[in-house]
Amino acid sequence: MSLDTILDHVDGDLENSIARLMDLMRIQSISTDSKYSDECISAAEWLVDDLVSIGFNAEIRETPGHPMVMAKGGEGGIHTLFYGHYDVQPIDPIELWENHPFEPKLEETKNGPVIRGRGASDDKGQLMTFIEACRAFKDVTGSLPNKISIFFEGEEESGSPSLVPYMKKHVDELKADIALICDTGMVEKDTPSIVTMLRGMVSQEITIKGPNKDLHSGMYGGPSINPIRVLTKALGAMHDENGRVTLEGFYNGVTELPEQIIQQWNDLSFDENSFLSEVGLKIPAGENDRTVLEQIWSRPTAEINGIWGGYTGEGFKTVLPSEAHAKVSFRLVGKQNPEKIQSAFTKHIQSYLPKDCTLEYKLHGSSMASNMAIDNPSFEIARSALSSEWKNPGVYVGCGGSIPIAGHFQSIVGLETMLIGFAQDDDSIHSPNEKYDIRSFHKGIRSWVRILHALA
Ligand SMILES: [Zn+2]
Repeated sequence: MSLDTILDHVDGDLENSIARLMDLMRIQSISTDSKYSDECISAAEWLVDDLVSIGFNAEIRETPGHPMVMAKGGEGGIHTLFYGHYDVQPIDPIELWENHPFEPKLEETKNGPVIRGRGASDDKGQLMTFIEACRAFKDVTGSLPNKISIFFEGEEESGSPSLVPYMKKHVDELKADIALICDTGMVEKDTPSIVTMLRGMVSQEITIKGPNKDLHSGMYGGPSINPIRVLTKALGAMHDENGRVTLEGFYNGVTELPEQIIQQWNDLSFDENSFLSEVGLKIPAGENDRTVLEQIWSRPTAEINGIWGGYTGEGFKTVLPSEAHAKVSFRLVGKQNPEKIQSAFTKHIQSYLPKDCTLEYKLHGSSMASNMAIDNPSFEIARSALSSEWKNPGVYVGCGGSIPIAGHFQSIVGLETMLIGFAQDDDSIHSPNEKYDIRSFHKGIRSWVRILHALA
């Protein structure tokens, strides 16, 4: 069967593909909030049913948290293992959404039609590009193009607590020739990208405790230490005036880029100004001797993701709080060691702690950065398949986000991973009004058809 016949089928079936994506998006599979546990199960069941309908042997696998979906189908060719996640981020602040996040809408924008709603891009829209490509092969040829395993999890947006134990227990089942992940973006609108560098992450929550109860500032203001004051001073000292992180030993293991990669990145038409202006900013705030692409792809960061304490309700209350809290995360690169970063951070906070205060901390998750071995032949096969679908040739790029699974495939299963995704920078993933371009969805499906055809 010719490749064109299958691609034509994708074009003709697009409306149905969109309808199926919308069905999956209506399931409120927020993994971090236990209120939505049943919805996570529903999303896993929906996927199993859909995979069975296109010829996979698929089933739900229980974990202590949200279930995995495992499926196998097809035979021959390069055995590919496709990974995606069916869980989504929380939806607040809900008042900033134009439509209900779980009632997906098709919408015309100045850049073409989009589908809007939570998970449109991350990761339901993206994982459906792969399923729809498999469906096209099945519809046209009666079978899947090659041997394909599928592995979906439902805890990616909440630190994947069940993932590593599950993978260790099922190493044999996860074996393949190459892993594919569709959870990343395109570096430019018409430049398909294979991510070969991923930042790792450490995320941590801290509580500083002072007086044994909230106090009146008229009575105790002055003699009583205020934990918020301690917290903000310590957090405020994590960066210097050049945007560098000040934690001791923070840059140990950070590798410098080879000259030709810097050159490749400089050759991209990436525009720092428009990247920032899309989010209402003008001035890069990272290390001031690095380009914005370096800052997001190849440099580590420290960020305060949340901070709270005291009275934050309507009106005013002159309270001296007994506790102050923050959530802090670090993006890691190269060979930075998550445990060392974590202890450097704790030591930093402790060095600001007066005798009357105590520090409690809780680790939410940690992973090392990962770098792919692009000399594996599947990389060039996929890159050239992508180049025939899009206007510009495919490129190898870095990615600012953390996708720990890629590192786990390497270290637990011994698999190289190709991260190929079709998200755009303005998709607002994790934010209100998340969307996926219909063009990304459509050409994404076509891209997978081309890649699978080439790998088969
Ligand atoms: Zn994702």
